[in-house]
Amino acid sequence: MSNKLSILKYYLTFRYRRFHSRKELTEFQQKKIRSHLRLITEKSLFYHIYRNKELQDFPVIDKKIMMDNFDIINTVGINKDDAAAFAIDSERTRSFSPELHNITVGLSSGTSYSRGIFLVENTEKEKWAGFVLAKFLKRGIAAKYNVAFFMRANSNLYESVGSRNIHFEFFDIYADLSENLKKLNNFDADIIVAQPSLLLMIAEEINQGRLSVHPETVISIAEVLEKEDEKILRSAFGTDVIHQVYQCTEGCLAATCRYGTLHLNEDIVHIEKEYLDDKRFIPIITDFERTSQPIIRYRLNDVLVEKKNTCPCGCVYTALEKIEGREDDIFEMEGNDGQIVKIFPDFIRRCILFSGEITDYRIQQMPDGSIQIFADIDDDRKTRVREEFEKMSIDKGFRLPPIRFNAYSYDKSRKLKRVEKVTSLINYSDMCPELNP
Ligand SMILES: [Zn+2]
Repeated sequence: MSNKLSILKYYLTFRYRRFHSRKELTEFQQKKIRSHLRLITEKSLFYHIYRNKELQDFPVIDKKIMMDNFDIINTVGINKDDAAAFAIDSERTRSFSPELHNITVGLSSGTSYSRGIFLVENTEKEKWAGFVLAKFLKRGIAAKYNVAFFMRANSNLYESVGSRNIHFEFFDIYADLSENLKKLNNFDADIIVAQPSLLLMIAEEINQGRLSVHPETVISIAEVLEKEDEKILRSAFGTDVIHQVYQCTEGCLAATCRYGTLHLNEDIVHIEKEYLDDKRFIPIITDFERTSQPIIRYRLNDVLVEKKNTCPCGCVYTALEKIEGREDDIFEMEGNDGQIVKIFPDFIRRCILFSGEITDYRIQQMPDGSIQIFADIDDDRKTRVREEFEKMSIDKGFRLPPIRFNAYSYDKSRKLKRVEKVTSLINYSDMCPELNP
């Protein structure tokens, strides 16, 4: 089957697949998982000993286990050193079309500083393309679209989506911003895809009257989209919703529906929930479409927040309130009783938001436990932020660490994280930007 026909087939599958109940979805998943595990235990050395076992008998793995066992987990006979050398080389030369044995190899730093390598086969790419098109092409696949795609690196993963109707224009985020904006001004984009930090810069240009764009769809990728930033974007772009794709090396995990609610993509991934409180959980994912690099019971380090109310779209997939951030970014405070008190990024964020008007900000907990706030705010506002932190420390029972204020700054080669725990200063300054799928 030709590449395009295959994408069309997946497009139709994802566009028209409907489940009427959770029960129907669960039965579908069970069937998919059974045949997937049968295939993987045959082809992957790592999983061979689990043949004929049920999913719950498989080990829960993480990025470290995946990377340590890369050669025996993958089913396409690629070894880690070759894959790493190949991926680094194509990124350095900024040429992203070559493939290693017909497999796309990419690097991802994620946000947890250790390098991950991912493999994607052509058929998996076509499925991915079909999936994305099915989710976001409002006027169907036969209409014409101009898609402006801002990313760290052009990958042949995305080029597979292009066709006669669908014109992709890639904007390298390392290129000069004014050049990118000039290009965008002339492009007439129907769909703009970028990380929130970049969307905010574009929004600012629109608000200043220097840029004229009228996209029907705006899609936020790669970084957490904060609610307050979403509001700014909706008003600047004049759209009802800002769509989101929650995607990582390990797969495409969630996408927004027409109401802007993030739903887990439970028709391609099975997700076990490790609850942290009554609505926050860490996902353990099994991707039953991914065969070259199997993702089976893979524990991510993201904290997701479940939505308690049902979404009006009627979709049976789990609805999310938001992606809260990385598990690594939960602040750790010294409790009054000497125990560690964990504070979710959301509570940290509120200390800024409750203290006055929204401005750009970043809050970091440093390795010594102290808190650094980067924001251009006056002394009154600083006092109010401090008061919010004090209130929280009383509510949650911890000793307030020193708080320092700095001017706002943000290195655009890194992912924007409003709330971040810095674990090591060495890794922090050494971290190099890498391909973000
Ligand atoms: Zn929905």
